[in-house]
Amino acid sequence: MDSLTIVLLVAAIVVVAGAGYFVLARRRTPDFEDLPEPRADAVPLASRLGRTRQTLGGSLRSVFSRGDLDQGFWDEMEEALVAADVGIAASQIIVGRIRDSDPEHAEEARNRLAVELRRILAGRDRDLHLSGTPAVVLVVGVNGTGKTTSIAKIAARLRERDLTPILGAADTFRAAADTQLRMWADRVGVEVVGGQSGSDPASVAFDTLAAARARGRDVVVIDTAGRLQNKKNLMAELGKIRRVLERDAGRIGEVLLVLDATAGQNGLAQARVFTEIAGVTGIVLTKLDGTARGGIVIAVEQELGIPVKFIGVGEGIDDLIPFDPDEFVDALLAE
Ligand code: GDP
Ligand code: GDP
Ligand code: MG
Repeated sequence: MDSLTIVLLVAAIVVVAGAGYFVLARRRTPDFEDLPEPRADAVPLASRLGRTRQTLGGSLRSVFSRGDLDQGFWDEMEEALVAADVGIAASQIIVGRIRDSDPEHAEEARNRLAVELRRILAGRDRDLHLSGTPAVVLVVGVNGTGKTTSIAKIAARLRERDLTPILGAADTFRAAADTQLRMWADRVGVEVVGGQSGSDPASVAFDTLAAARARGRDVVVIDTAGRLQNKKNLMAELGKIRRVLERDAGRIGEVLLVLDATAGQNGLAQARVFTEIAGVTGIVLTKLDGTARGGIVIAVEQELGIPVKFIGVGEGIDDLIPFDPDEFVDALLAE
């Protein structure tokens, strides 16, 4: 080898290593929001919200078709909001503010309603934070709310953005839970780390993190069991999972609480237990397609003070969308 070849070789190595470092450095903080949107998001939200839109939209239409802004008008507006699960406190605040703004006609009141709904939902951090190598997302919630399904949907979204999620089946209490997660994972094309039935969920979380490191995966998503009947056990279990992940990963990027929109105000009470125990950073509100009471989004944020980050609008893999308040309000109030 002559010296020119050596110089060229060294230069080539430097360029490749530099590019490699650049790619790795970028991957270290895979920022979900900066990556291109998958195509499924092109479907208009209004058509995916189904019954909520029909019902709230329908009753509001009848409110706004009234000519006079009399007491009956304001009462009906408040009733429509409460019926949509916006929550009594939030509904009163919203109607009070619109009334105070002294609109001249129904159309103006309608525009004010959109403004007030947007205002309640404004200014919250709805990004999915994926810092850390790997990033850690812990998913908690009552059984049947849609945790496992939502994890599959989130994994699919991450895959579409060229990230490499790995799933931890830390719901070791229900025998079928591992199988269900694996079935989804196969479909999405991601790996699952599981444990023996009845084994310690925290050890599954630990093993998943170790596997992610060994295989160079970007994001660890941990599925958990959620039973409220036994709050002490739940607390101990989630506390231990958190400790293990924090000790090992340094920090947890997100703790997502999965809530079932059809559980209404009842679900809110359960949610409070999890927010006390688990340090929830974001909410996934599922089954919005199956309820006429989509106003629960507003009640959830008002009462828990935690941002809704994703909404579930069906059982399919594409039926989980990042929550966009403006789009949501437009869809609710669309003619
Ligand atoms: P987990 O017990 O919390 O893990 O809940 P699963 O993920 O097993 O979901 C329970 C049921 O809810 C399943 O039949 C899911 O298909 C269904 N499900 C989950 N999310 C949604 C959603 O956004 N819309 C509808 N219609 N069904 C959903
Ligand atoms: P019981 O139904 O009130 O008798 O409650 P148990 O505590 O006996 O548990 C019933 C089910 O919950 C069993 O399948 C257990 O494996 C499961 N289980 C027990 N402890 C825990 C726990 O700490 N966390 C979770 N998620 N499940 C548990
Ligand atoms: Mg599950």
